[in-house]
Amino acid sequence: MDKKTSLKNVKKYPINGTKYTIAISSAKGGVGKSTFATNFALALKSLNCNVGILDADIYGPSLPKMMCLNEKPKAENGKNLIPIEQYGIQCMSIGFLVDEETPMIWRGPMVTSAIKTFAQKVLWKDLDFIIVDMPPGTGDTQLTFSQDIKLDGVIIVSTPQEVALLDVKRGIKMFDKLNVPILGLVDNMSFFESADGEKHKIFGEDGVEKVANDFKKKFLGKIPISIDLRISADEGKPLVEKDLNHKISKNFIEIAKKIKVSFP
Ligand code: ADP
Repeated sequence: MDKKTSLKNVKKYPINGTKYTIAISSAKGGVGKSTFATNFALALKSLNCNVGILDADIYGPSLPKMMCLNEKPKAENGKNLIPIEQYGIQCMSIGFLVDEETPMIWRGPMVTSAIKTFAQKVLWKDLDFIIVDMPPGTGDTQLTFSQDIKLDGVIIVSTPQEVALLDVKRGIKMFDKLNVPILGLVDNMSFFESADGEKHKIFGEDGVEKVANDFKKKFLGKIPISIDLRISADEGKPLVEKDLNHKISKNFIEIAKKIKVSFP
């Protein structure tokens, strides 16, 4: 069987209790994927959607910190996990299974089985959207995940510098090959606006938008470098939750509106 045929024929599992599954992916770590995932989830909630977040970033789970989740999830009947609700969002993280400072050195089969457990054994309740914070990269973990879980779409987050964009192109090709619809690309850390109003394009200019155009994908918008966004992430209260009217929160809400209209 050639590779193309085998990818198409794999059985994909839907996530129970949810209407639509949207993955947030980045080709590289540290580009703001989790920051985007949490704020985007809260932006969708502000548009009256029921939302959950599944933190599947095996190698750097950040949901417990970014959403200030201190308790571990409870299990029902000793087998099904009950998500923890925070800021009106149902949350589950692979980070609950390890302590904060333990590095993840799981091998392929362990990753696959953890993901399947998450997909099938969490009691998500009446969700319109589940946002899946994917591990970064285009390696085996990403591939396995996209093959096992029925994804309704993926949003790719990147910073605009050349070295990140190369990996974004790889990511686009991978999702296209796996028949996962790419909902669009987001340019994070696009620029820094100093007090005098000048925009400093620290990582280059319009790189993500250009890649989106080249590959005929939607460009969803820019998120500037923001101290408030970073502080709120560290505090465990995403900016959209902390201040819905903040200039940067509005960027997330605009992107959420663009995504919501694609799902009736
Ligand atoms: P990833 O999930 O891609 O590894 P994170 O979301 O954890 O990246 O972000 C990495 C760091 O960058 C975090 O400290 C986060 O607060 C910060 N960060 C992300 N996006 C921005 C932004 N637009 N402005 C300022 N800091 C940001």
